[in-house]
Amino acid sequence: MAIRKTEGTESGEQNPKITPLLSGRDNMKLILLGAPGAGKGTQAKKIVAEFGIPQISTGDILRKAVADGTPLGMEAKKYMEAGQLVPDEVVIGLMKERLQGDDCRNGFILDGFPRTVEQAEALERITDIDAVISIDVDMDSLVERITGRRSCSQCGAVYHIKFNPPKKDGVCDACGGPLIQREDDREETVRKRLDTYMKQTSPLIEYYGKKGLLRPVDGNGPIDEIYASIRDILLGL
Ligand code: ADP
Ligand code: ADP
Ligand code: ZN
Repeated sequence: MAIRKTEGTESGEQNPKITPLLSGRDNMKLILLGAPGAGKGTQAKKIVAEFGIPQISTGDILRKAVADGTPLGMEAKKYMEAGQLVPDEVVIGLMKERLQGDDCRNGFILDGFPRTVEQAEALERITDIDAVISIDVDMDSLVERITGRRSCSQCGAVYHIKFNPPKKDGVCDACGGPLIQREDDREETVRKRLDTYMKQTSPLIEYYGKKGLLRPVDGNGPIDEIYASIRDILLGL
């Protein structure tokens, strides 16, 4: 893997920050596609740690807006609680702005966007994409993963009560914050979200397949094995 030297940090420090990056590439624009609970966020964080490009999670952005009570949050809340998608024009507008961020100049990992064909078409008008990593997980495992998910209310780190437990029950390893269950991770809403995925998001598999961008990964194994497959794909891009 090549080591790339950047001109400096965003705050303008003198010491060049050394960021490990892809063999010969200086830019990598990725989409992580997969059902709720497939492990997009978990894998995205591993890619961030190794490749130094930011994770952009529409779910995280929307949840923060809801928590902050912004107009965007107030609009999004009712859809999220019902397990439905927030309207395309809202999410597309938000991503247009986010992708202009300075931190996106070497690429990014889209986690949870696009989720409809309309969003995918809008994304094409904003930027090109190098690969779509599609994480495939059996339906039964998805439900078990989502209902056992716990997130840190302070730093957003994600755990699983059985598959990826924190060292101390209910407490974040990274920051000591309390772990909570997302409101929409309860079983009733989960079924609805999986249904929404099947109807509105799964057509993107064919959409990106036809464009030759789709890189399917078996998402049923342990977290590190799945990451090893993703890493191989990224190093071969
Ligand atoms: P997504 O972002 O696709 O909704 P997450 O990354 O949040 O999915 O993962 C959903 C839940 O499943 C989390 O609790 C996470 O710790 C757990 N998880 C992620 N990958 C795996 C895996 N390969 N095996 C078992 N559990 C996993
Ligand atoms: P998961 O990875 O478990 O599916 P997310 O955190 O990605 O959950 O999304 C949570 C909720 O936020 C979704 O159920 C949906 O209401 C909303 N949301 C996230 N991303 C999008 C998007 N691209 N388009 C529309 N709604 C979205
Ligand atoms: Zn934390």
